[in-house]
Amino acid sequence: MNSIIIIGAGMGGLAAGIYGQCNGFKTTIFEAHHLPGGQCTSWKRKGYVFDACLHSLNGFKPQTRVNAFWQELGAMPCELVERNEFVSAVLPDGTYFHNYFDIEKLESHLKQLSPEDAPVIDEYIDGIRSFLSEEDWFGITNFGTFWEKLQIMPFFLSKIKYFRYTLGSFALRFKHPLLRRAFPLIRYSEPAVPLFGYLAEYSSYTYGDTGWPRGGGLAFSRNIADRYLELGGEIRYREKVVKILTENDRACGIELEDGTQHKADFVVSNADGRKTILEMLGGRYMNRKVAKYCEPYSPDKDVAFSVFVCLGLKRDLSSYPSSLIIFLDQPETIGGHDCEHLHVQIYGFDDSMAPAGKGVIKVELSGKPSYFSRLSNDRAAYRTEKDKIAEQVITLLEKQFPGLQEDIEVVDVSTLCTWERYMGGTQGHNNFPNKYDDLTDIRNVLDFIFGTNRMFTLPGLNNFFFAGQWVTSMASLFSTAMTGKTVVQKICKQSSVSFRSPS
Ligand SMILES: Cc1cc2nc3c(=O)[nH]c(=O)nc-3n(C[C@H](O)[C@H](O)[C@H](O)COP(=O)(O)OP(=O)(O)OC[C@H]3O[C@@H](n4cnc5c(N)ncnc54)[C@H](O)[C@@H]3O)c2cc1C
Repeated sequence: MNSIIIIGAGMGGLAAGIYGQCNGFKTTIFEAHHLPGGQCTSWKRKGYVFDACLHSLNGFKPQTRVNAFWQELGAMPCELVERNEFVSAVLPDGTYFHNYFDIEKLESHLKQLSPEDAPVIDEYIDGIRSFLSEEDWFGITNFGTFWEKLQIMPFFLSKIKYFRYTLGSFALRFKHPLLRRAFPLIRYSEPAVPLFGYLAEYSSYTYGDTGWPRGGGLAFSRNIADRYLELGGEIRYREKVVKILTENDRACGIELEDGTQHKADFVVSNADGRKTILEMLGGRYMNRKVAKYCEPYSPDKDVAFSVFVCLGLKRDLSSYPSSLIIFLDQPETIGGHDCEHLHVQIYGFDDSMAPAGKGVIKVELSGKPSYFSRLSNDRAAYRTEKDKIAEQVITLLEKQFPGLQEDIEVVDVSTLCTWERYMGGTQGHNNFPNKYDDLTDIRNVLDFIFGTNRMFTLPGLNNFFFAGQWVTSMASLFSTAMTGKTVVQKICKQSSVSFRSPS
């Protein structure tokens, strides 16, 4: 029986393990952390659950191809928790833009809020509705046959007009100040997101394919890890890989921190690409393309999700929108970043995230990786800054949530340095090889969505593969899990094994 060593129990590593086991390989996952799931994780403090990554997950709708894929991995069926609004926004004077999933309710709310924007509102609503005609377009593009993909082309071509706009440029067509300010931010505070992508995601919520899995990220990851273990796989926790062993330019095993070596016929790395190439393989398998992939991001460029301020509150938050942009009276510098708004996740929709009658809020701030890496060299200064950030955020939230200070039971602040420490990445969670400055360029969009420029292997090295975010060009649990399947298909082909999926 051929064997595979997998470095990392993130989504890509677990999926590689599951497909490996199903195809007759003996697989072992070495995981540095004590939990499965990598970035798809949550942590508990005094009964409150704080979630690291999940905002939305696609593949809930039964009979879709993505749902079938998640079922293979043991992740579905899982309980979808209903949310009533996408990302909503509020001005300091209390004026709300409720981005309702109920399309009729959304249309009438928007027209009430801004009657003079009726023509643009109609266009926006038509855009959402136009995506409802084909509920499995995402599954077909990823798993469909050539013929099915050809058949779905008219669906895409009829929507090409939505590529003309980004959320930022579409926002400029509104007259209402709140809509003009909110639209550029409603997708991860990223104005460059194409309107096409936003509309597609929004509509998939309305037909019940996209949503929130009850319990959050770690609960979801654990289901997949359980499937892997049921299939006979082995996860060795707290075992950090420092070196990939090679023989005649063929990967043949790994070395752990304590010097122990383990041999296998294939090695799959689900760890950070840069660390795998430059540290575990000592930079021996590089060409120009690989070198370019390993170039770091500018540490002085602002990155979304640089700081999380999580609060456990003894108050019920179930009546609030699940995701809210709170515009500030005046800009404030928080963690070295000039903020005009706070992006807040409010978990009142999932009663498993807090003890009965209580609730969790997470504030997501942007910032520069360099700001925190410099600070983290001085533990006391780093702690003081985290405390200051929490204090600023709490004071600002108090205006929208009067009395909040008295209700706080837990405060938990994490930064990009926390991500790096727990997930072993470089520059926090920012471990993509591809950088897209212009998402209205169709080549970038194709690569972003379909990974037309993926790098699963390294030049000159045999029996080695990457699985995970490093090869996806797109941060999503689905796309990273898919890489695990692709890698095992490649290994099967090389080993003359006919690939099969779990039943
Ligand atoms: C803030 C944020 C929000 C997100 N929101 C969403 C969302 O709403 N929906 C969605 O679908 N996706 C979302 N994503 C993306 C998604 O979480 C990631 O794309 C996905 O989890 C990455 O999986 P991965 O397979 O690349 O592995 P990772 O999760 O990066 O896991 C890698 C694993 O390898 C381990 N490891 C690293 N080095 C070593 C070593 N030397 N030895 C042993 N083990 C090692 C790590 O401990 C880790 O467990 C979000 C990501 C972020 C950062």
